[in-house]
Amino acid sequence: MGLKEYKSKRKFGETPEAKPGLRHKSSQLIFVIHKHAALALHYDLRLELEGVLKSWAVPKGPSLDPSFKRLAIMVEDHPLNYKDFEGVIPEGNYGAGSVIIWDSGFYHHPSARDRKESEELLLDGLRKGNIKLVLNGEKLQGEFALVKTGKDEKSWLLFKKKDRYAITGDILKENRSVVSNKTLEEVSNAIFRSKNRPGTPARGQSRSRSDARKASGKQQVTPG
Ligand code: MN
Repeated sequence: MGLKEYKSKRKFGETPEAKPGLRHKSSQLIFVIHKHAALALHYDLRLELEGVLKSWAVPKGPSLDPSFKRLAIMVEDHPLNYKDFEGVIPEGNYGAGSVIIWDSGFYHHPSARDRKESEELLLDGLRKGNIKLVLNGEKLQGEFALVKTGKDEKSWLLFKKKDRYAITGDILKENRSVVSNKTLEEVSNAIFRSKNRPGTPARGQSRSRSDARKASGKQQVTPG
């Protein structure tokens, strides 16, 4: 897919999101899951492959319970340096709303011995619409599968495979960033406060804090 679509959707003078930049290869492939309060709250699963982050919007979020299969809508590739993004995408921009790094870590194909072999097997799975992956994150661990539904070009299902990391509890209750330890609300409130400091005129319309909370709690489905 490349990063053309990613770039065409964004105004880098306005959004604090990552401009595609230099990439540096670690010995293992990385993954990140963003929690994103856009028009509709969703989670974004991003997997490093071919030098970019292959991305899926997961409206209901991942689960460690193998009986839940979660819809994952494939979206445009994101640059590798997007893995570090946490903050607020301003109103009027694509995907406006706050974002936290809900989970991150390394991942690999279950039968691969090294990064190279992992990448080959994962890419093969991506082409075939059936990706087997082992996550080694802070919240998510163990084997998962991402399987194309065949319904359309973009719909996949994400689910946990049965192993010792499978649990029936709701992992989404752990709602803090693995980087800043902040919740989505704390990230958006921090921006609100800094914009409204005395002597710092807020740009554009200012919203009340309760409006900001209402906006981030809206429930409509739009990936991005
Ligand atoms: Mn998103």
